Amino acid sequence: DPGIYIVATPIGNLNDLTFRAADILKRADVIAAEDTRITGKLLKHIGSAVHMVSHHEHNAHIVRPELLARAQKEAVALVTDAGTPLISDPGYRLVRAARDAGVTVTSIPGACAAITALTLAGLPTDRFLFAGFAPPKEKGLRDVLAELGTVQATLVFYETGPRLARFLSAAADILGMREAAVTRELTKMYEEVVPGTLPALAAHYDAAGAPKGEIVVVIGPPLVIETSEADLDAALRAAMDTQTL
Ligand code: SAM
Repeated sequence: DPGIYIVATPIGNLNDLTFRAADILKRADVIAAEDTRITGKLLKHIGSAVHMVSHHEHNAHIVRPELLARAQKEAVALVTDAGTPLISDPGYRLVRAARDAGVTVTSIPGACAAITALTLAGLPTDRFLFAGFAPPKEKGLRDVLAELGTVQATLVFYETGPRLARFLSAAADILGMREAAVTRELTKMYEEVVPGTLPALAAHYDAAGAPKGEIVVVIGPPLVIETSEADLDAALRAAMDTQTL
């Protein structure tokens, strides 16, 4: 059927491609891909010969009208290099334009590094805020951490090895003793989860140097001072005692 198909692809482990994704990537009329060499390997793996057009951050505004026009009568699949399109990846404007043009949009869900990291971090998942990539410059980074630091939710950041130590030291500075986890190379051979408080993780990666591979940092919600029922009773009794004196 004509329309735009948002297709999630693996984030490292080819077996994470869903049956539905493989099906649409073989049957689409055209695939809009971020890096056609990377997607080319995936297509080869599944035996797909569908033609690709390049659609990335820098040319998206130029190719979007053509993709939209084709999606009126053809199946146009959108993929990015890894994971779910639109999640710290291009695609949002294409979906928006498709909606505005009355073109059907279908999502084929699958791997996403943020969700995979959340499921491994051992931190609260009832409420989380996906923060994408933090700004690379110190001032911007600190501003974002201060702004998000007051949110009562687990925070999820995408990071890169070379920037990890700086990110963690700013986070430790601004957010304090929060529990966190550095997750790396998710779904791949050297998948790793390093849990710890922000100051401990900052010290660890400061000493260890830049880790290789792709990274998601998960930071637990602000600490709430836990008060037990017994503590509360004792405090109340003490307050009442003081009043009767
Ligand atoms: N759209 C992708 C998704 O659904 O997760 C994210 C794309 S974004 C350009 C790339 C970033 O995602 C990396 O810098 C890293 O923070 C994270 N990432 C992607 N794959 C990962 C993996 N296998 N392990 C850890 N982090 C990963």
